[in-house]
Amino acid sequence: MNMKKLISTLLIAACVFSLAACGSKKEETESKEESGKESDTLVMATNAEFPPYEYYEGDEVVGIDAEIAQAIAEELGMTLKIEDMAFDSIIPAVTSGKADFGAAGMTVTEDRKKNVDFTDTYATATQVIIVKEDSDIAGPDDLVGKKIGVQLGTTGDIYAGDIEDAEVEQYNKGFEAVQALTQGKIDAVVIDGEPAKEFVAQAEGLKILDEAFTEEEYAIAVAKGNDDLREKINDALAKLKESGKIDEIVAKYISADDAE
Ligand code: GLN
Repeated sequence: MNMKKLISTLLIAACVFSLAACGSKKEETESKEESGKESDTLVMATNAEFPPYEYYEGDEVVGIDAEIAQAIAEELGMTLKIEDMAFDSIIPAVTSGKADFGAAGMTVTEDRKKNVDFTDTYATATQVIIVKEDSDIAGPDDLVGKKIGVQLGTTGDIYAGDIEDAEVEQYNKGFEAVQALTQGKIDAVVIDGEPAKEFVAQAEGLKILDEAFTEEEYAIAVAKGNDDLREKINDALAKLKESGKIDEIVAKYISADDAE
């Protein structure tokens, strides 16, 4: 057997043992279906407790991230499937491959970059402070020694943990923290600006302080080293920014006079 023949025999053998690697598109789909995941489906991990980015309308997850993800899936000719989970389960879902990407108003941080890769950013955000209307807390400096409510695992949680002598109460949902504030169980809530507006509008007697805590940027998280998907999402995002689609989606959920 000459060298060429040997190589082609080995290649055929490799194909027999690994259908996914050498098979046609159809075989690939079938083998992925066996593992419960279709190759033309993009699975998004999110935490649908974060209006206007992701929340339930009936039993459907809607919001800015849900619509941007849908538009990305359409650009890629794929079907979007949204999986709702706790915020701090999103990165593990992405790293384990249970989800293809995480989109959850997720702030790009150096710490998270150790576990996932981020796409280009698609929104800027702030962390704000919510207090009772009659509170004597007027800005971040007044949070020293206070009881601060946050959503578990969020950047608000991280920043609150750095405040001197503060007692940080972690809630699974941002709205639960806001309810605890209404009930006088805590002194303030540190949370993202847009959900803060929605939660304050649904509650009584609360206000958002003018002085924002931080400036942040939201991006989509993909598994570390999944450059193929990251680049595809970036290309889709660039097209959607260019065409005005992202602005259109944002405008649908955040009215212009409301935006910071
Ligand atoms: N932007 C915040 C973070 O990334 C909160 C996100 C969220 O609660 N969905 O931690």
